[in-house]
Amino acid sequence: MKYTHSLQYFQVILCALIGSFIDLDHFLVAKTIYYREIQNNINRGIFHITTIPIVISVFMLLYAQKFVSDCINIVAWIILTAFLSHHIRDATRRGFLMTPFGSTPRVPYFCYIFLLLILPFLISYGEYLTTRLISKTKTDRQINQPLLMDFEV
Ligand SMILES: [Zn+2]
Repeated sequence: MKYTHSLQYFQVILCALIGSFIDLDHFLVAKTIYYREIQNNINRGIFHITTIPIVISVFMLLYAQKFVSDCINIVAWIILTAFLSHHIRDATRRGFLMTPFGSTPRVPYFCYIFLLLILPFLISYGEYLTTRLISKTKTDRQINQPLLMDFEV
């Protein structure tokens, strides 16, 4: 996959949209569109469960490795980035919701800053590793692919 500026902008916009979309579950849980009623609701919705995007991303990354898909690989990292950055922010108030393992205590402010600072490096390194694995698989398949001339004889 060739990285162009427009592709990078698209990825940033997609990440921002997914990160914003997460809070829509407040409306679903409260079953109302009124902000005041949403503020009073203490329950968190399904999009605020941190284990779900982690599991989905892991499955997408395994799929991307199996079927050599750059696109699925990148989308998996975008989803993980959007959800984790949002959940880290929310964890300062209520902790991480790790269903079915329970939830963590609320994250102290210095920990929140630290997590937000290292998140881009972790995501970037993870994406680098998985992209390299996919490239290696592509190269291996090209090397092991029989030449057309072999079948012409
Ligand atoms: Zn939220």
